[in-house]
Amino acid sequence: MYSIYRFRQLGLSVRAFEAAADVGGTWWWNRYPGARCDIQSIDYSYSFDEQLEQEWTWSERYATQPEILSYANHVADRFDLRRDVQFETRVTSATWSDDDQSWTVTTDRGQTLTARYLVMAVGCLSTKKLPEIDGLDSFVGTVVHTGQWPHEPVDVLGKRVGVIGTGSSAIQLIPILAQSAAHLTVFQRTPAFTFPAKNAPLDDEQLRAMKQNYPAHRAAARQSFGGVVVPPATSSALDADEAERQQRYEQAWEGGTLHGLLAAYNDLMVDERANETAAEFVRQQIAAIVDDPQVAERLAPRSYPIGSKRACLDTNYYATYNRDNVTLIDLRETPLDVITEGGVRTADGTVHELDVLVLATGFDAITGPLLEPLITGRDGLTLRQAWADGPHTYLGLTVAGFPNMFTITGPGSPSVMTNMMVSIEQHVEWIAQCIADLGAAEQTSIEATVDAQNEWSALVTMIAEHTLYPRANSWYTGANVPGKPRGFMLYLGGVGNYRNTCAEVAAEGYRGFTRR
Ligand code: NAP
Repeated sequence: MYSIYRFRQLGLSVRAFEAAADVGGTWWWNRYPGARCDIQSIDYSYSFDEQLEQEWTWSERYATQPEILSYANHVADRFDLRRDVQFETRVTSATWSDDDQSWTVTTDRGQTLTARYLVMAVGCLSTKKLPEIDGLDSFVGTVVHTGQWPHEPVDVLGKRVGVIGTGSSAIQLIPILAQSAAHLTVFQRTPAFTFPAKNAPLDDEQLRAMKQNYPAHRAAARQSFGGVVVPPATSSALDADEAERQQRYEQAWEGGTLHGLLAAYNDLMVDERANETAAEFVRQQIAAIVDDPQVAERLAPRSYPIGSKRACLDTNYYATYNRDNVTLIDLRETPLDVITEGGVRTADGTVHELDVLVLATGFDAITGPLLEPLITGRDGLTLRQAWADGPHTYLGLTVAGFPNMFTITGPGSPSVMTNMMVSIEQHVEWIAQCIADLGAAEQTSIEATVDAQNEWSALVTMIAEHTLYPRANSWYTGANVPGKPRGFMLYLGGVGNYRNTCAEVAAEGYRGFTRR
């Protein structure tokens, strides 16, 4: 949406294709009950227009999916964005022509268009992943994936409901489903670390302060590590004594943010022993909330460092397991066997009878949506071939062999490790400047060199290897999709450093690129 706005300002003609029937992206698709953002409203909004910032009023600390969707609609109306969007249309292929210095794009509606620039704003979590289990088609009840939740309400009242998965989506959904379902069965393979959101309405005073302070707040966010302003930790968890650590972790827990606990000390994401102190703190919270010690132990993550799989924010998640109508099945003890006509059978032979089955099984993240269309660059090289062993990019924005193609929050950029609004705006602005500079220089194409791309990929890997992130089987590494190449796909140097690097590259005449 911001690309459309920004490119129009350059006087370019813009055509956007969108698979959904309207704007909103992830917030159009992920409309399961309980869906809300886990970045605070003050941060999860556009900063590019001061009036927009001032006229929109968020109602809660963490906005719900319907509220974010109305915000997206408001932005689309305000800037008249829809006239450049073709909805309910998927791009099926894009092919570069060196002779014409342009991309030819085809859609599932049989259209063919040409464009000088191709901007892939496909999102990182938009290609759904199904569980690898036989029999899904035989189930006679209702099956829904959180990432493609129907627009009509899914009736769970008095029904036997099953949820496969316990990531962010499930953790938001489970407490809500439990309130209406006759019985809720949760199938958990890997427990997540989740912190209480402490969500609350925003009062007038908070809103006033927020709006008054926007310019300074945004400026700080742009130079921060993760796109949200967090006071930097200056000491090691291992230098603190037990009581001091406990106090700091309790404070962070009560603070109700995604990053508070993980940023309590400066070595939590780089030192396993330091990390374990925070992990153990959360396990103690779980044990204190969950009545049944066996259930608490099943919910306690022990197989990966805290934070190395994306942490979650919740409202009443652990307490939900104290309800009589909720059962937790640990798939590490009894793996999924098959889905039958009537429910889910686990390896011990038990059939869990269900009316509704919710797949909260996540996404083929980051590269999945970029590899869905058949993208063919110079000399017939497809992106699928170029990335057969994992994604390679220069700055997470461009790919060698694919001139004039840009990836918004692509692999190799800070992307999903950050507040996406900050990262999206920075990418759109960099791309717009790049296109403007090419125009001013009367050049028609820009392409990353292989050397610059290799150097960037090596840097991304080197930084990741200094952290604990690659230690988990997460969607950050591709490990959640069988057969997907493994490797940590994101730049962990922080959005401030990254923004400065991108700006330097441009200022140095697009260092690492060939322009024609
Ligand atoms: P996810 O984090 O990838 O979680 C998927 C869950 O499904 C995991 O627990 C996974 O277990 C399980 N699973 C997958 N395949 C399975 C199988 N064959 N059998 C059993 N279990 C299986 O997906 P998500 O919850 O949709 O979240 C994805 C990301 O979207 C989040 O990390 C976050 O970045 C974003 N998100 C954000 C919000 C928010 O802002 N509040 C809300 C929702 C999502 P394993 O861990 O064992 O693979």
